[in-house]
Formats: sequence, C-alpha cells, structure tokens
Amino acid sequence: MTRYVDAAALIALAQQAELNATAACSCTKTPLDGWQSQPLSLDESQLVEIATLMREDDPEPTFAEYRPDNVQYWSPEAPIAPRYFPYNRCGVWECSTCGRLYLRYTEGGGYFVDRRIRALKSERVVDAGL
Ligand SMILES: [Zn+2]
Repeated sequence: MTRYVDAAALIALAQQAELNATAACSCTKTPLDGWQSQPLSLDESQLVEIATLMREDDPEPTFAEYRPDNVQYWSPEAPIAPRYFPYNRCGVWECSTCGRLYLRYTEGGGYFVDRRIRALKSERVVDAGL
C-alpha cells in the first residue's frame, strides 16, 4: 500500500522537497504550476509514487472542488485541497532525478482518459474540511 498523507503531512513533504530539489532537471521543461495533460517532454520512468491522497476509508471520494474566489481548476493559483476533487484522487510522485514532487491522477474514464500532472507547491496546500 502506498502511504496515505493528510494535508499537514503533504505540506511537510512539499517543504522538504523544495529545500532539497533545486538542481536543473528535464522534468521542469513544461511548466506544471497548474494542472496539465501529462506533457510528452516528461519522462514518466523518472517518476516514482511515494504517497497518496486517496483515503482507504473513502472508496467514493467527492467530485466537489474547492475554489475560493471562483479560482479556475487550471489556474496556477488554484489551492491544493487534499479532501476535494481532483486532489482526493491523486498520488504524490517524486522525480527520481531531482526530487521534485508532483501530483498525478487520471481524469475521466471510458472513452475519455487524460492523465494529468501538477507540481506540488507547499504554499498552495490548504487543509479545507468538506
Ligand atoms: Zn526532475
């Protein structure tokens, strides 16, 4: 099982990575400050899942989004609220080359599947209750 992290643990992970992962790396070629469809420039084999925001005791996580001030889903300013969509479906992935952290999940299902990725920034994480 991948380790579950709550908002506080996620912030701690992100802060640690921000201190350590400062080297230039191919994973930053496409800016991922907001959600993006996984760019072709990204070598997936570099990414390792180190934690998950999916709760084992919640098999049907909500599709509600946390969007204070009506901030858009795609915005680099959008908060990362682990209990809300899409963060409640995300894995936390580490670039094995530089140590930067990313959130990933798969949008849609059936005919429409889009793998999305966003850089994890500690200052965007908010512990918003449902
Ligand atoms: Zn990297």
